[in-house]
Amino acid sequence: LLMGEAMRSALEEPYTIDGHQYSTAASIGITLFPKQHEAVEDLLREADTAMYRAKDLGRNCISFYEAAMQADAKERLALEQDLKKAKAEGQLAVHVQPQVNAAGMVIGGELLMRWNHPVRGSVPPSCFIPVAESSGLILRMGDWMIEQACETLAQLQAAQRVVSISVNVSERQFRQADFVERVRSLLDRTGAPPEHLILEVTESLLIENLDKTVARMTELVQMGLRFSIDDFGTGYSSLAYLKKLPIFELKIDKSFVQDTPDDPNGTAIVESIIAVARLLKLHVVAEGVETQAQADFLTSHHCDCLQGYLFGRPEPLEPWLQRRLA
Ligand code: C2E
Ligand code: CA
Ligand code: CA
Repeated sequence: LLMGEAMRSALEEPYTIDGHQYSTAASIGITLFPKQHEAVEDLLREADTAMYRAKDLGRNCISFYEAAMQADAKERLALEQDLKKAKAEGQLAVHVQPQVNAAGMVIGGELLMRWNHPVRGSVPPSCFIPVAESSGLILRMGDWMIEQACETLAQLQAAQRVVSISVNVSERQFRQADFVERVRSLLDRTGAPPEHLILEVTESLLIENLDKTVARMTELVQMGLRFSIDDFGTGYSSLAYLKKLPIFELKIDKSFVQDTPDDPNGTAIVESIIAVARLLKLHVVAEGVETQAQADFLTSHHCDCLQGYLFGRPEPLEPWLQRRLA
C-alpha cells in the first residue's frame, strides 16, 4: 500500500509541456500473490478488477482485490448484457413524479427511468444506471428519455395544460459531441416547447471542462431550455461555477431535506442553499419531501417547489399524462 501510495502521489505531481501545466491522476488496483492455482492471467484480472473499483471510488485512489469483487464484476456483466436488450424488448418504462408549488399546485414533473426485467423483476435505477453509464448504453437510453419528455410536453402544450418536465441527463450523455443537435432535432420533430424542458445535471459535470460545459449549456439555453443542478449540496457546490453557468434551478438533495426541520446540520445546509439560490436569483426545488413538517419548513423558508412522496410517488407516465389532458 505504501508503495502504491508513493506511485500514486508521484504521478499526481503537476508537470509542464510547452509551457502548459498538466496533471495526471492514477487509479491503482493491487492484488497479492502467490495464491494457489493462480496463473499470471488470474493475477492480472484481479488487479484489473481492483483498478476498476478504484475508479468507481472516485479515481485517483488505490484499491485491493477482494474475492467479492469478482462476483460483482460478473453480476455487472450479466446485467449489462440484459440491459442491452431491455429497450428493444420493451422492458424500459418511464415514470413521472409531480413537483408542486407552495400552494400545492402541480407545476412540473420529473421523468424517471424504470426497468422491468422478466426474471429479476423491477431493477432499481441505482443498480442499472451506473451499468448503463459505464457501458455507454446510457446514450441511447438517455436520448429516449429526452424524446419521452418532448412528446409529453408537446401533448400538454396542445391541450394548453403545459407544466415543466424535468429529465435527468448523465454526464456522458451531455458530453456527446452531437448532444445539442440531438436535443434540437427531438424538439423540432415533436414540436415540444423548449422553455418547459428542464435538464437535470449533477455537479460533477461542472468541474471538468468548465469552458466547454459553459459553451454547450449556453447553446441549449439559447434554444430555450433550462438547467437544474441535481443533488445540489452533495458535490462541490462551488459558488464560482454557479456564477459562470446559465443555470435556472438548484435541486436540494433529499438527504438534507430529510434532516429538516429537526436535525440542526441538515437544516442549516438547506437554509444556506435557499439563501444562495435567492442571492443568485435561481429557482429552488427540494426533493424527497416526505412529511408535512418538512414541507412547512421549506415553504416557510421560501423554497419555490417541492417534490417527494408527500405529494406523489413516481407513477407510470402515460396514465398521469392522460389525467392531466382530461
Ligand atoms: P434522482 O434524480 O435524485 O431522483 C430522485 C430519486 O428519489 C428517485 O429515485 C425518486 O423515486 C426518489 N424519491 C422521490 N421522492 C422521494 C421521497 O419522498 N423519499 C425518498 N426516499 N425518495 C424519493 P429513483 O427513481 O430510484 O432514481 C434514482 C436515481 O437514478 C435518480 O436520482 C437519477 O440519478 C437516476 N435516474 C433515474 N432515471 C434516470 C434517467 O432517465 N437518466 C439518468 N441519467 N439517470 C436517471
Ligand atoms: Ca433528478
Ligand atoms: Ca436528486
